[in-house]
Amino acid sequence: MIVAKFGGSSLADAAQFQKVKDIVFADNRRMIIIPSAPGRRFDKDDKVTDLLYLCHSQQKAGESFEKTFDEIQRRYLDIAKQLHLSLELKPYLQEIQQQMEEGASADYCASRGEFLNGLLLANYLEFAFIDAAEVIFFDEQGAFDAEKTNSVLKKRLETVETAVIPGFYGSNPDGSIRVFSRGGSDITGAIVARAAQAELYENWTDVSGFLMADPRIVTNPRPISHITYHEMHELCCAGATVLHEDCVYPVSSVGIPTNIRNTNLPQHPGTMITCNALQREDFAIFAGVSGKKGFSLLVIEKEEPDHTWSFVQEVLSAVQKNGIKFQYLPSGTHCVCLLVETKQFLEKKDSFQDEINKINIPFSISIQPETAGIVLVGYGIIHNRLAVNRIYTALQRQNIDVVMINQGSGELSTWVGVAETEMEGAIRAIYEEFL
Ligand code: ASP
Repeated sequence: MIVAKFGGSSLADAAQFQKVKDIVFADNRRMIIIPSAPGRRFDKDDKVTDLLYLCHSQQKAGESFEKTFDEIQRRYLDIAKQLHLSLELKPYLQEIQQQMEEGASADYCASRGEFLNGLLLANYLEFAFIDAAEVIFFDEQGAFDAEKTNSVLKKRLETVETAVIPGFYGSNPDGSIRVFSRGGSDITGAIVARAAQAELYENWTDVSGFLMADPRIVTNPRPISHITYHEMHELCCAGATVLHEDCVYPVSSVGIPTNIRNTNLPQHPGTMITCNALQREDFAIFAGVSGKKGFSLLVIEKEEPDHTWSFVQEVLSAVQKNGIKFQYLPSGTHCVCLLVETKQFLEKKDSFQDEINKINIPFSISIQPETAGIVLVGYGIIHNRLAVNRIYTALQRQNIDVVMINQGSGELSTWVGVAETEMEGAIRAIYEEFL
């Protein structure tokens, strides 16, 4: 069976609901559906979640939230009317308004967007409605409680054949509502896919999957047809906006693939994210390229080389003691290079310097700021011995100096460091070279 999550723009109005129904009924394996709250219908439109947060802040400031709430009500009532739904929404809306008047929490207010959309969609599809507050749990510290959720949710899913479970929220141990971070319906979808032991988690949105490069840098980049979770994570480290780690772990850890699809172009296969590269039919040299500015390259070099690892260990221990997060570590026994985020490093620089000065081995340290990290990702890279050569040549042709390059210690990526001002040109040159 398939768990399918539909984002806000996929459920923004009655016409979008119809598309969703067609998609759901086009494959009878789509048995559990996770809706977001209604998103934007056009460019300057409001997202219902934003309006709900606005109601909360207006109420808190002692202002009237009636106008804002009316707008929200209208969105849902219009959908229900246009789809001729049998559901009586008014009592739910009245209850929510009353809770708001009595000072309901921001989380409660925000969660009602998904709650109401879930009620509408369940009625429209004639699927059971399962309130997320009864099956998604947070612990005393406010962290997601995976164990409790998984066992309760699993049992609950056994009692239904088809169901709609609203995304984005769950409940605290005292029963009050808590929401995930913004965009959190993606997380709910992954959690439910895991509990349902789904064969596939579909994430329906308004784009046909991920692109091989940032379209603001490369004109018309190709879509990614297949990518592994690891490759996606690597692209994400260098700035690509793909799925958040929290939406990936519940499914990737149990081997469930994710398929990013477009509600407005359902015939497009979108991007398939799998655990294993062997599932990839088109074994392209690379899956994608991304780049991020704001790095510094730290080079810490022992003055007299020897073949022991103690220098590296001491440097890394100073790094760890100061909580410095590094993005990449191309190193040998006598030299440690660290690609670090400049902003975070500068906050810790003095204490790091104090710590590293305690090392009893003579060394030098240099810092190259304003470095961009570019990552070329794809398991195909290791099968292509000329890849690094091609990167060099492509960059050289554009007169771009390479500050650092490291091929695939993890066998799936090659990192290239260039000056920040050269990043866009370098990404274009690499993309063009390989495609
Ligand atoms: N409706 C929530 C938001 O706008 C959650 C979601 O759409 O995933 O952030």
